[in-house]
Amino acid sequence: MFDTLSGNLGSVFDRLRGRGALSEADVREAMREIRVALLEADVALPVARDFINRVTEKAVGAAVLKSVKPGQQVVKIVNDELVAMLGGDDAGAADAAPLNLDVRPPAVVMMVGLQGSGKTTSTAKIGKLLKEKQGKKVLMASLDVNRPAAQEQLKVLGEQVQIATLPIIPGQQPVDIARRALEAARLQNVDVLMLDTAGRLHVDAALMAEMKAVAAVATPAEVLLVVDALTGQDAVNVAQNFSDEVPLTGVVLTRMDGDARGGAALSMRAVTGKPIKFAGTGEKLDAIERFHPARVADRILG
Ligand code: GDP
Repeated sequence: MFDTLSGNLGSVFDRLRGRGALSEADVREAMREIRVALLEADVALPVARDFINRVTEKAVGAAVLKSVKPGQQVVKIVNDELVAMLGGDDAGAADAAPLNLDVRPPAVVMMVGLQGSGKTTSTAKIGKLLKEKQGKKVLMASLDVNRPAAQEQLKVLGEQVQIATLPIIPGQQPVDIARRALEAARLQNVDVLMLDTAGRLHVDAALMAEMKAVAAVATPAEVLLVVDALTGQDAVNVAQNFSDEVPLTGVVLTRMDGDARGGAALSMRAVTGKPIKFAGTGEKLDAIERFHPARVADRILG
């Protein structure tokens, strides 16, 4: 992940650092190269453009160009803006729990996204984290009545991570399952109820209506959009569609272990206005990490 982007930015930086003095034209040339590198990494066009504008505005100032090491300064500005692009505002809260579950229990975490994005796996992974790292009592329920065996899949994952799943009642519809799950969670003094919702192959009106209806019943503390980092620009479009319709609180970016070019990770914050809260890093049920903008920026900038 990020390898090509990292290499391309690295060579721009080497050239910037290698020069004693920098003119405004030098900076603008470097910015053009960085813009190309971002677009090649599948960063959404408006996101790349805003990024370059912000960096350029700061970098062409006299204070930077006349400083002792102008190249270093420009590199630092790129770094800082990259952290911001990745959602750096949230980095200050690095040690706080990424999920806001500070509501009267059961706190509902609703997982949304397209089919195959890694929603069910991420539900079990996050449930496991909450149980093991925060000592929460978790219940998971699948509302996916579209995909055959989806409910069964969550049950099997639940057994693997030793988290209870709501018993399956064949034929029950998503909103009714959500009601039943809430009821069960209250009766069992559950701290966190994880709702794994249905996906579709593409975003459509029926899916969005279903998400809204479930959200209205479940009043989730968190609505996490699960997107596949490997799908690049598509992931960005999906995020845009969901965030227009459902009140998201964060993003889970899966397949960060793959060789995605990174555009989805870089664009997500700007497109949804919501932080990436977790990164999925493999198929195993402990392959999930908190997303730390500054650390990811470090990885990109080497
Ligand atoms: P859903 O249809 O959105 O519920 O997707 P699933 O949770 O069933 O995941 C689809 C496939 O992606 C499964 O084979 C998962 O093991 C795999 N998967 C999910 N998250 C990750 C991840 O972060 N990395 C990798 N390599 N595979 C993942």
